[in-house]
Amino acid sequence: MPGFELFSDLERKEVNDVLDNGVLMRYGFDGMRKGHWKAKELEAELATTFQSKHVQLVSSGTAAVSVALASAGVGAGDEVIMPTFTFVASFEAIMMLGAIPILVDIDDTLTLDPKAVEAAITPKTKAVMVVQMCGSMANMDALQTICNTHNLLFIEDACQAIGGTYKGKPLGSIADIGCFSFDFVKTITCGEGGAVVTNNKEYYINADHYSDHGHDHVGNDRGAETHPFLGYNFRISELHAAVGLAQVRRLPEFISIQKRNYTILRNALADIPGVTFRTVPKGGEESYAFLNFFLPDLESSQKVIEAFKVNGVDACWNYYQNNWHYIKEWNHLKDQKSLFPISKEVREGLEYLQTKTFEQSDHYIGRNISCLIKLSWTEAEVKARAEKMAKIIKSIFL
Ligand SMILES: *Cc1c(COP(=O)(O)O)cnc(C)c1O
Repeated sequence: MPGFELFSDLERKEVNDVLDNGVLMRYGFDGMRKGHWKAKELEAELATTFQSKHVQLVSSGTAAVSVALASAGVGAGDEVIMPTFTFVASFEAIMMLGAIPILVDIDDTLTLDPKAVEAAITPKTKAVMVVQMCGSMANMDALQTICNTHNLLFIEDACQAIGGTYKGKPLGSIADIGCFSFDFVKTITCGEGGAVVTNNKEYYINADHYSDHGHDHVGNDRGAETHPFLGYNFRISELHAAVGLAQVRRLPEFISIQKRNYTILRNALADIPGVTFRTVPKGGEESYAFLNFFLPDLESSQKVIEAFKVNGVDACWNYYQNNWHYIKEWNHLKDQKSLFPISKEVREGLEYLQTKTFEQSDHYIGRNISCLIKLSWTEAEVKARAEKMAKIIKSIFL
């Protein structure tokens, strides 16, 4: 997945453009910047790549989720439905606005189970946030129907699925608002960065202002601009945007390398009895950033991971006891370990996590093995790796 593996002269050239004129900020300083507007150029490229009308770059993927929710008016006391399997950023971004994360089960897509979403809806539900984990996606039609029926905002976190598609549309462009991360380990990187993507002009204008202290960005005198509403600072810098500009142009190349590597690994495992693959919804095409497969139970997946480690097969994980990606070890959330007082609404709103269990999620995450697909592997390296993985799994099962 990580674009940083192929950092090149293309990225260096874009960064040098910025260093030559010294304007490290994305707004203003028109005269000094000698025509270089890296953030603006990157927004235009991303709009084309993600086939969306509007793109607002921000400082991170976490910021993108928070800005997206804020731009659509989600705030204090609102419930946002999200999956048990994601990155901690999902609930962080929700809680930053004083909203309440409502965690629900995933299914064999490793993303939100539409039935679990429907069951979790209450009068306080404001939004459903799907997270397209590990390069693939949820049943987007089913989730869209639920959101339409209950008049809910639909947010799409596509941070880990850059380049995947559903029924011909880029992931991240399907729901009301999409969110991307370009942190250092994502498919394309800015070093740090993120984007809010939408076809809704009002949400876009809100995101544009909110992510820059409420600046309305009218005219070319920053100090004279007005502030129609309160904002914050989630700006990206020109240096970070410059790296992303080179990377987004290389996305088709990155995806084709991922697809080649993924296919070699998948084919090597496909015929092993007991190995099954995650479900990709009809009409979906993965970004090939990860290969995800299931073994019969938690014990066997843990054994295989252990054997992978001993035999030098890196970058594969079982997420059951992972600190960052699965509900099981999120005790800081369950116990509300906050540096500062949390509002009464959120405190009470999170109490369900003290007792709620997620058997269905445990069933899928316990049996799952997730392998990162690297861009830097040669074809010969991937083939050797595939053979080794197949041999290890067979030695444990057959
Ligand atoms: C990486 C990631 C984020 C957060 O992105 P940052 O840029 O690191 O803040 C959010 N959601 C998912 C699913 C991610 O993988």
